[in-house]
Amino acid sequence: MPEFWNDGDPIADTAAPDGPIETRWERRKFSAKLVNPANRRKLTVIVVGTGLAGGSAAATLAEAGYHVKSYCYQDSPRRAHSIAAQGGINAAKNYRNDGDSIYRLFYDTVKGGDFRARESNVYRLATVSVNIIDQCVAQGVPFAREYGGLLDNRSFGGTQVSRTFYARGQTGQQLLLGAYQAMERQIGLGNIEMNARHEMLELIVVDGKARGIVVRDMVTGEITTEMADAVVLASGGYGNVFFLSTNAKGCNVTASWRAHRKGALFGNPCYTQIHPTCIPESGTHQSKLTLMSESLRNDGRVWVPKAREDKRAPGDIPEAERDYYLERIYPSFGNLVPRDIASRAAKNVCDEGRGVGPGGLGVYLDFADAIGRLGKTAVEAKYGNLFEMYQRITGEDPYETPMRIYPAVHYTMGGLWVDYDLQSTIPGLFVVGEANFSDHGANRLGASALMQGLGDGYFVLPTTLGNYLAAGPFAPIPQDHEEVQKARKTVEERISTLLKVDGDRTVDSFHRELGHIMWEYCGMERTEEGLTKAIGLIRSLKEEFWQRVKVPGTGEQLNQNLEKAGRVADFFELAELMCIDALHRRESCGGHFRAESQTPDGEALRHDDEFSYVAAWEYAGDSGKPTLHKEQLEFEYVHPSTRSYK
Ligand SMILES: Cc1cc2nc3c(=O)[nH]c(=O)nc-3n(C[C@H](O)[C@H](O)[C@H](O)COP(=O)(O)OP(=O)(O)OC[C@H]3O[C@@H](n4cnc5c(N)ncnc54)[C@H](O)[C@@H]3O)c2cc1C
Repeated sequence: MPEFWNDGDPIADTAAPDGPIETRWERRKFSAKLVNPANRRKLTVIVVGTGLAGGSAAATLAEAGYHVKSYCYQDSPRRAHSIAAQGGINAAKNYRNDGDSIYRLFYDTVKGGDFRARESNVYRLATVSVNIIDQCVAQGVPFAREYGGLLDNRSFGGTQVSRTFYARGQTGQQLLLGAYQAMERQIGLGNIEMNARHEMLELIVVDGKARGIVVRDMVTGEITTEMADAVVLASGGYGNVFFLSTNAKGCNVTASWRAHRKGALFGNPCYTQIHPTCIPESGTHQSKLTLMSESLRNDGRVWVPKAREDKRAPGDIPEAERDYYLERIYPSFGNLVPRDIASRAAKNVCDEGRGVGPGGLGVYLDFADAIGRLGKTAVEAKYGNLFEMYQRITGEDPYETPMRIYPAVHYTMGGLWVDYDLQSTIPGLFVVGEANFSDHGANRLGASALMQGLGDGYFVLPTTLGNYLAAGPFAPIPQDHEEVQKARKTVEERISTLLKVDGDRTVDSFHRELGHIMWEYCGMERTEEGLTKAIGLIRSLKEEFWQRVKVPGTGEQLNQNLEKAGRVADFFELAELMCIDALHRRESCGGHFRAESQTPDGEALRHDDEFSYVAAWEYAGDSGKPTLHKEQLEFEYVHPSTRSYK
């Protein structure tokens, strides 16, 4: 196995404060150097991404007085993928008085992540969660309210309290509109220079510091080099390496991967979240999967027939012949077990031949009880838009017949490695939101991504980036600097190589095949044999890609095939690293289930003695082996135990 990687020196998070966990963030904020307001105007920050992480960061930095250059590939910043988030955002407000607290949110998140996240980061996340809600309410985000006027809450998987704030099934959209309005105000004031439809294709590093990016204007094809005092990546997750996922079609890894190639370590790339409640795949024509929000598990009951190959319509299967397997196996959390557990349980019942719908790859999510208890109108008020979406896609009415759901790739816990200050291993390169390796360990609890993205952007980054910028402004970098020209040339040559291949296979056909390999061998269940096979398959498919890909059109025009080809080329390299990471981690934890490491009753079996670390990978060149640096995780407050939701 070590033939696939080299072992490197350990890595430590030297920015993290020690002492009592409750005051770590307070003390870090106090020790952080400040930038005089008059000096902020002289400092320029590039922010790549306008989702919840990038939008909130850009708005807050501009509000503080920095000059911000913002980039996204959509035609408007408010079309970032964050807009798709449906279910809600966690915060330890304890409005329900049901025993919630910052400590409990911290505890649930460390445990939910299967003890593979840093305690300090998670505690900070829980702390700022309460500020996020206040900030968003002040912006006018229309969170759902109870009759008495208080903000309403619901529950998500992995918790026994109600701490999820929501705006019907459109929470991401409403939160993004809040961040977008704050950005727009700063755009109007001239503090943010907004560049929509611009794709970052390379990072510029000068004297070891991140100093700029190379971007392509996606409409004209013009390549420019953009300089700054610091660069922030808020470029989202890479679930689309699997081709089919719930992510927006444009989500990709290019910004992160280019930074990785320039020296930024990549943390835990194999940690992928498979979401249990998605509409099952319906055929090979499909290019995307649709999420049914986890909030539905508050009221929907998951079941399959007790008998194998039972082809009766759901309404014809009597209660006694149904298996509400989550309620049976996990009586304490029932349908609200975390996503990794619910996904694997669905896979297991389908593997037993008890799956429903075409191909037997589905389980029922049934609202009959909830409709009986609360009435159709109440259910419609909570989930109406989700039900409508389901009906439009499947042609089935979920008020009358249970929804069919199946797990699908949804979120990536891995990402660029960052320290407590959210700084990568390249000084001056900060990474926020889903793009960093995150606070979620091996498994993210529902409604925690929005919390992390906004926590990073509104509260953490503005402090820690200021600490870095206090040493600036740094010497201006001329456009003809050797490193700037080198980065530009890399981009130009890559585009021209992609166009020159002029082969006979479409980009999508390669992407689909890559996704199939990833789902088969690096998806819900992984084995040493399968992962080794996958690495070989990926390598040969990558080689074929560079010989046979067909990219019509030119580089000097709007060319979506060219955009996709560049992203898929990076997905190949990422996919290989994901499989190597999954192969080296000979334990099961969270979203990473190694078949060789399970308890007698089929639950994930961690090996804390060997694997209680973050795997931070160093790029080793096109044909070299990546180097593994381990960041040991210490647990002083939440002691690692076997997760039990029974
Ligand atoms: C269907 C769905 C529902 C979800 N529901 C919830 C939920 O209810 N609660 C929850 O907590 N989480 C939810 N999530 C997860 C959550 O939505 C995401 O993790 C989060 O929104 C990511 O935010 P982000 O700002 O990090 O990235 P994104 O919103 O993905 O934004 C990325 C930005 O980077 C830009 N970008 C990327 N690459 C480049 C490049 N090379 N050059 C220029 N720009 C670039 C894009 O244009 C975009 O502006 C859901 C996810 C999905 C898929």
